[in-house]
Amino acid sequence: MPGFELFDETEKQQVNEVMEKGFTFRYNFDGMRNDVWKARELESMICDTLQVNHAHLVSSGTTALSTALASAGIGAGDEVIVPPFTFVASVEAIVLAGAIPVFAEIDETLTLSAEGIEAVITPRTKAVNFVHMCGSMGHMDDVKAVCDKHNLVLLEDACQATGGTYKGKALGTLGQVGTLSFDSVKTISCGEGGAVLTNDETIYNHAHQYSDHGHDHIGMDRGAESHPIMGSNYRISEMNAAVGVAQWKKLDRILEIQRKNKKALKEALSQYEEVAFRVIPDEAGDNAGFLSVIMPTEARAKEVVKALAEENIPAVFYWYANNWHYLKNWTHIQNMKGPAKLPIELIADRPDYTQVKTPKSDDIMSRTFSMLINLSWSEADIQQRIDAFAKVFK
Ligand SMILES: *Cc1c(COP(=O)(O)O)cnc(C)c1O
Repeated sequence: MPGFELFDETEKQQVNEVMEKGFTFRYNFDGMRNDVWKARELESMICDTLQVNHAHLVSSGTTALSTALASAGIGAGDEVIVPPFTFVASVEAIVLAGAIPVFAEIDETLTLSAEGIEAVITPRTKAVNFVHMCGSMGHMDDVKAVCDKHNLVLLEDACQATGGTYKGKALGTLGQVGTLSFDSVKTISCGEGGAVLTNDETIYNHAHQYSDHGHDHIGMDRGAESHPIMGSNYRISEMNAAVGVAQWKKLDRILEIQRKNKKALKEALSQYEEVAFRVIPDEAGDNAGFLSVIMPTEARAKEVVKALAEENIPAVFYWYANNWHYLKNWTHIQNMKGPAKLPIELIADRPDYTQVKTPKSDDIMSRTFSMLINLSWSEADIQQRIDAFAKVFK
């Protein structure tokens, strides 16, 4: 998955162009920048590739989530449905928005199921933070239907699934608002960065304003701009955006390599009866950054993960026991522990997060592991994995 595996001269040239001709700040300074606008350039490339009306760059995938929530009108006291299998940022962004995370069950797609979502809807539910984990999607028609039926905002976190599609539409563009991450280990890396995607004019305007102290970005004089809303500083720098410009041009190549490498491993594994794969409702749209396997039992999954490590196969993730990706292990989130009092502490009837139960998700995730699909693998690297499978699987 990591785009940094393909870093070459083009990223350096892009950054140099900013340092030599352009300016570090994404707005204004028209007289100094010789028409170098890297953030704008990357935004327009993203819109073209993903066929979305607006892409607004921010400083990270996490600030993209915060911006997306605020821009879609999600705030204090609103309930937002999230999966227990995700990256912690999904939950942090909701809590820092003053909203209430509500955990729902995933299914064998490793993403929220429509039934899981429907089971936890209350009159306070405002949005679903749908996370396209490990590069692929869930049953999006069903998910969208539930959101529409209950008038919920569908926020798609496509931070791990840049370039993935569902029935021809880019992940991150199916709901009202979506997010991408370009951090150091994502499909496209620009060091640190993220994007908010939307076809909704109001959400877009809120997004560029919110991520830049509420500036309306009208005219050439920043000091004279008005501020329709409050915001903060979640801006991306021109240097980061420049790296992203070079990386984005490699997206097709990255997806092609990932899909080829993943196919080789998946084909090799499909002969073993004990192996089931994560369900991918639209295989053709898989970003293919990971290969996820669901074993018959938790004990066997742990045994296989251990055996693969003993065969020196790196980057095999057993998420159920990992500190970053599963609710069970997030004591700081179960205890809602911040450095200071959190808005959610003012809500008397908030959930007790030490008592959240997601048995279906536990069952699936305790049997699941994923392998990172690298861009730099040689034929020999792939064969080494296939040989290891032959030793480890029945
Ligand atoms: C990486 C990631 C984020 C956060 O992105 P950053 O750019 O690291 O802040 C959010 N959600 C998911 C699912 C991620 O994998």
